[in-house]
Amino acid sequence: MSVWRTAFMDGLRPEQPLTVSEWSDKYRRLGSKASAEPGPWRTNRTPYLREPMDCLSTTSPVQRVVMMFAAQTGKTESGANWLGYVIDHAPGPMLLVQPTVEMAKRLSKQRLESLVTETPCLAAKIAPSRSRDSGNTMFAKEFPGGMMLLTGANSATGLRSTPCRYIFMDEVDAFPADVDGEGDPVSLAEKRATTFARRKILLTSTPTVKDFSRIEAEYLRSDQRRFYVPCPCCDAMQWLKWAQLKWENNDPKTARYECEVCKEQFAEIHKPAMLRKGEWRATAPTDGKTAGFQLSGLYSPLGWLSWSNMVDDFLRAKADAPMLKSFVNTRLAETWEEDYASKVDADGLIARCEPYTAGVVPDGASLVTIGVDVQDNRLAVSVWAWGREEEGWLLDHQEIYGDPSRPELWKQLDEIVLREWVHANGGMISADVTCIDSGGHFTGEVYQYARERQAQGVVAIKGASQRGKLPIGKGAKVDVNFKGKTLKKGAMVFSVGSDTIKTTLFGRLKHNEQGGGYLHFHAQTGGEYFQQLTAEKQVLRYHRGFPIREWVKKPSARNEALDCLVYAYAALHRCYQRHDRRTIWDQMELRLAEPNEPRRKAPLRSGTGNAPAFVNNW
Ligand SMILES: [Zn+2]
Repeated sequence: MSVWRTAFMDGLRPEQPLTVSEWSDKYRRLGSKASAEPGPWRTNRTPYLREPMDCLSTTSPVQRVVMMFAAQTGKTESGANWLGYVIDHAPGPMLLVQPTVEMAKRLSKQRLESLVTETPCLAAKIAPSRSRDSGNTMFAKEFPGGMMLLTGANSATGLRSTPCRYIFMDEVDAFPADVDGEGDPVSLAEKRATTFARRKILLTSTPTVKDFSRIEAEYLRSDQRRFYVPCPCCDAMQWLKWAQLKWENNDPKTARYECEVCKEQFAEIHKPAMLRKGEWRATAPTDGKTAGFQLSGLYSPLGWLSWSNMVDDFLRAKADAPMLKSFVNTRLAETWEEDYASKVDADGLIARCEPYTAGVVPDGASLVTIGVDVQDNRLAVSVWAWGREEEGWLLDHQEIYGDPSRPELWKQLDEIVLREWVHANGGMISADVTCIDSGGHFTGEVYQYARERQAQGVVAIKGASQRGKLPIGKGAKVDVNFKGKTLKKGAMVFSVGSDTIKTTLFGRLKHNEQGGGYLHFHAQTGGEYFQQLTAEKQVLRYHRGFPIREWVKKPSARNEALDCLVYAYAALHRCYQRHDRRTIWDQMELRLAEPNEPRRKAPLRSGTGNAPAFVNNW
């Protein structure tokens, strides 16, 4: 009795034990406009959709469903079935998120209208959008006991409004990394469901680039289910893999699947029977609340996408990286690994550490530069030594925690920037140039620090992400007074071609022979340092139809070690601006060989405390 009362109080009718697939088989109709196979929905046509759909049923304890599916496997329709089930059977507030508001609009106009008008029990619950005050608008559909809101992942406002029991995020790999400076749109949307104990969240997508794919990250956090089907020859259960598809003489019509166990090759005609006998099996431990499903186009039912179609697509795409990427993502539902980026990973670099002493400039190096990255609560500082042909040695990497708006933090930085380093030959050497990033929230503090230590080679820099920029540009005066007049001893800011430098340095990190261009790391370099150093990858993007390689950071990764190296390398190029590049290494080695003369103390203008100050002898 009390159960009934609670349900009544909540304004909900009690939910009958009906699953999403049962509802779909009973009520869902596919119209001739949106579907190639109009008529009643049949889950048997795509048996692999039954389990993901049923995890979305109110009877299932699963809260998060992750579908990393190929195109043309029915994932969109299974999402539509869930929407219908919610409206008709388990009403509650629902949020539907598309990659953009524009796409949400299109979905509302095209797919939702046909879903509702073609399925009679839904048409009875949602008023036609033509009528006034119907509660049915482009971005909100009211129905008894609930409401469906539509928005785009590019709208923080849309993601933030009322609490929702159900959240459907479609094509999450096309979501922006950050929405309106408020962070990850997926977490933003999910916050709205936290108050519902019986919430359901569906994330679907075809994947994109390895390590940058949201759907893959979600799948890897799930129980990683694969659809196992029996071999028609030996009955051995296996999940279908592209590598097992065989063909002859580049002829797609000869496509056959080779069983991993009995090695028999069989034709696609067996697929319907295999799919019927198929089952999802988890390949990773489960938390009981998250179910992840991965499915390639190899499972696509007869008449949708055939194995021959896939071979044909592959043969057309294989010579062209962008097309092959699209094939791998949309047909195989796998992430695309950029071969460029894949060769530099943190583990490979750790293995390269050498037994030279941290903080001691090794033989072969004759110049020291420093790169400083400014974060909101710390400075990250890397000290690099350089030799002929830009062979580089990491001397030191430190994080100094503190508030960059306070002078104390900058005094601590002095202890690194202004100190002298022991050289393996017994001499001393101090940093020639220090580059500090002025692009964050503390531009004024960076300018001031750089202005006061110009004589020590400290410069403020600002990253320019455009491609093809010089490693370091010409300096520009930035301090202007209230009349717009440039101050005489004002700070200079130098633009740094981050994209150019990263491409150069990653090429060198990949390069495994010691000598010119090689980057060395001392044995005390920690794993976290290398994680940060490899936190960015170059990916292929399209701009007006043209492929562009662009550096992107892995979501939620820290990348200061990489930034510090980029800035220290820019600092090396600042040295080239001040010395003849053809003779710089002769000059530097000569300078190092000179008996250590006491260096002049630099008169610092303000706020440097008692830190030792040295002037470089140029
Ligand atoms: Zn077999």
